[in-house]
Amino acid sequence: MPLSNSQYDTIIREYNAKQIKNQHMVDDRLKEVYDKDARLQEIDDAISSFSLLQARKLLNGDTKALIELRHRLVEYNRQRQVILKELGYSEKYLEPSYECADCKDTGYIGNERCHCFKQRAIDLVYTQSNIRSILKDENFETFTYDYYSGKDSNPATGLTSLETMQNAVSDCRKFIREFDLVFSNLFFYGDTGVGKTFLSNCVAKELLDTGHSVIYFTAFQLFEIFERNTFRQAANEDIISAHQNIFDCDLLIIDDLGTEMPNSFTISKLFLCLNERILRRKSTIISTNLTINQVAEIYSERTFSRISSSYVMLKLFGDDIRILKKLR
Ligand SMILES: [Zn+2]
Repeated sequence: MPLSNSQYDTIIREYNAKQIKNQHMVDDRLKEVYDKDARLQEIDDAISSFSLLQARKLLNGDTKALIELRHRLVEYNRQRQVILKELGYSEKYLEPSYECADCKDTGYIGNERCHCFKQRAIDLVYTQSNIRSILKDENFETFTYDYYSGKDSNPATGLTSLETMQNAVSDCRKFIREFDLVFSNLFFYGDTGVGKTFLSNCVAKELLDTGHSVIYFTAFQLFEIFERNTFRQAANEDIISAHQNIFDCDLLIIDDLGTEMPNSFTISKLFLCLNERILRRKSTIISTNLTINQVAEIYSERTFSRISSSYVMLKLFGDDIRILKKLR
């Protein structure tokens, strides 16, 4: 994912700060346990000198040196754990506590950027911190069927709003489960307040938690980025990289399609964006209050045909949950 130099530096500085903080924590804790029991320091000193000794032996061609070292380390660590336990500490007390165990807060796994780096880049570029707090409230754990009636059914499908939602949730679960294996996209449509945005937030949360890069935009914000990238000659590095990420991220969410002011620019950009992501096999979720016919009318047949052929179309229906919540 392309980043400007200043963005890259910002992220690397954050990782360095995390590592230093962690090292300080470990040092403080070591000092604390050494003060409580001098045997721990003796063991650590013994580990250092024995390691050095074995390294010298290895350099002199003693091939058994490494195996001896491993055996001895196991024994030293066992002794260490026994003492820590006697002192009432957990066995992990002297280990660093990483925010991301996968890259140990370095941002890299080998030469590859870690998933936490990629998401941090997205957060930085789009200042998506607002979506983080929304996802704390809107996820599968807080999701409830309470607002969906088991009585009124949709004449077109014969399903109640409860059944419709149950099917939609099961499609979303499948989408998440197979995300790394099967290329798929979701299209939520239906009236205001039937839970389209909530459902896409549930999916976003699950995928973020499993290390995927997710970008959330309202349609309005998305077209604003396109507009800035196209029309402002002095597009700086940050805008160009933001623009790239729209095509590269693992999941792009376009919320409230149709609430922007559609014009020939937005219509052609939407086609380009959806088409490019399909070619790259990167998933997209769209939600809209528009009907299928309106989507075809406003965004052209070619866009509509891309959507209808590559997206799982989920029509939600029911009462406006925002109003129901107020009435309760
Ligand atoms: Zn990481």
